[in-house]
Amino acid sequence: MRSLRDDLFEGQVAMVTGGGTGLGFEVSRQLLQLGAKAVVVASRSSEHHARILAEAERIGRGRIDSVVLDVREPDRVDEAVRAVAERHGGLDVMINNAAGNFVVPSLRVKPKAWRAVIDIALSGTFYGCQAAGRVMARSGNGGAIVNIAATYAWTGMPGVVHSAAAKAGVVAVTRTLAVEWAPLRIRVNAVAPGPFHSDGAAQNLWPDEAAKEALLRTIPTGAFASVTEVAESVLFLASRAAPSMTGEVVVHDGGQWLGKGMGRRP
Ligand code: NAP
Repeated sequence: MRSLRDDLFEGQVAMVTGGGTGLGFEVSRQLLQLGAKAVVVASRSSEHHARILAEAERIGRGRIDSVVLDVREPDRVDEAVRAVAERHGGLDVMINNAAGNFVVPSLRVKPKAWRAVIDIALSGTFYGCQAAGRVMARSGNGGAIVNIAATYAWTGMPGVVHSAAAKAGVVAVTRTLAVEWAPLRIRVNAVAPGPFHSDGAAQNLWPDEAAKEALLRTIPTGAFASVTEVAESVLFLASRAAPSMTGEVVVHDGGQWLGKGMGRRP
């Protein structure tokens, strides 16, 4: 179900890291549908960009660009964000969605794996915020940044200590920048999903039906969030419809993390 106005992003320029797959794809697709003038997707694999480029053609509204970028490289991130602003006349919205994750028992996490996940999900998110913040501050027009966290930032999740630590950092970055950058008219919010279907998540987090069923049993509503619904919250926070919202972390998890409290449901 669509709940956002067709002209919500009319004339705006947005950048989405990891915009070629999963949640990033859906956010990018909806940005175009909602009138964005230009949407730039950025991630490592140009193959991942082909689907959103084709989708943009089908939508026939706005313009889509893709940039091959590894968010672990701060200078490249800064350069790419500046290039977007120069090419499209500014940057209104930055969505820091790129992340990497895989299940591994904490006793066996190798330093290289730890660094990779922290570098992508936490440092990459901060580099994206910083680069966008610089452009938005310089323009004097401000802007909106939305970071993607996860509810295991505060519940923890056995098997993904690297990602849980990174997402806890993403929440702290979001709240810190929200206050620091409010005078610059830059809003910084986050969305914390519980499990939702994406090829990446299914492959890494619930690789078989039994694992998926076990996960579903932990969700009071008995269902995963839909990617469309999560994307709509990302877009609401990024939009002109939420001018006073900053430092917020919006949860989409079917009550999963609250359901961890004492006692059973009657
Ligand atoms: P996904 O489809 O696997 O998306 C991850 C994206 O990140 C990919 O497009 C990937 O593109 C990009 N990426 C990975 N490493 C990168 C790097 N070094 N530089 C640039 N881009 C990079 O997964 P998703 O499920 O949609 O996840 C989207 C967001 O939601 C993530 O932040 C994830 O942590 C969060 N989340 C997901 C779930 C879930 O259950 N699905 C739950 C909680 C939170 P390339 O491979 O082309 O680089």
